Amino acid sequence: SWSSSDSVISTDFAGEPAEPESPYRVVLLGASGVGKTAFASIFAGAADSMDSDDCELCGEELCEKEIEVDGEPAIITLVDMWDEQTDNEWTQEQYMQTADAYLLLYSITDRASFLRASELRITLRRFCPARHTPIILVGNKCDLVRRREVLTSEGCACAAVFDCKFIETSAAMQHNVWESFYGIVRQLRLRRDSREE
Ligand code: GDP
Repeated sequence: SWSSSDSVISTDFAGEPAEPESPYRVVLLGASGVGKTAFASIFAGAADSMDSDDCELCGEELCEKEIEVDGEPAIITLVDMWDEQTDNEWTQEQYMQTADAYLLLYSITDRASFLRASELRITLRRFCPARHTPIILVGNKCDLVRRREVLTSEGCACAAVFDCKFIETSAAMQHNVWESFYGIVRQLRLRRDSREE
């Protein structure tokens, strides 16, 4: 767990920081309304402060910044371009083929979004079958306890079937959102380290 986002984001280049890995491209996927934009704005720092200078290469749909995970800096380029309504299949394929990792979101208050996450997972497997691309299944809006339609155990079981990690989050309460970014970086590093051996 983490105390405040300030303590985990390293934007201080003074001293001798370890050389960060090249940017990891992380794509947010999921049905509309599940909280992708909310995730992206927490990542960009917009939810903490009005000052988005924090983010080095910020646009509405793309944000690149350095964060510190387990004492080691990592650069993440977060892509929030997924638009189920307007994008054609070709565009969606592009997003799926160009990422290093995925956060696959659904809302625990919306069973249809959970089913959609399963479909997207299957589509992802089709596009990157050989690579062990890190994916975290994210059950967002866990603050909306009374409106829950998807049990934690269902999310967990789904992730086990799909061979990915699972986390429940609340972007509204800023609960576990950073944990999911850290989880992605840890998985990417595990993959990197096993390749180096
Ligand atoms: P997107 O379509 O996936 O980008 O979803 P948005 O980020 O735009 O979120 C859709 C709506 O859900 C907005 O009104 C958000 O404020 C709200 N929302 C997002 N995350 C949460 C959450 O964790 N809890 C609650 N209660 N509302 C959320």
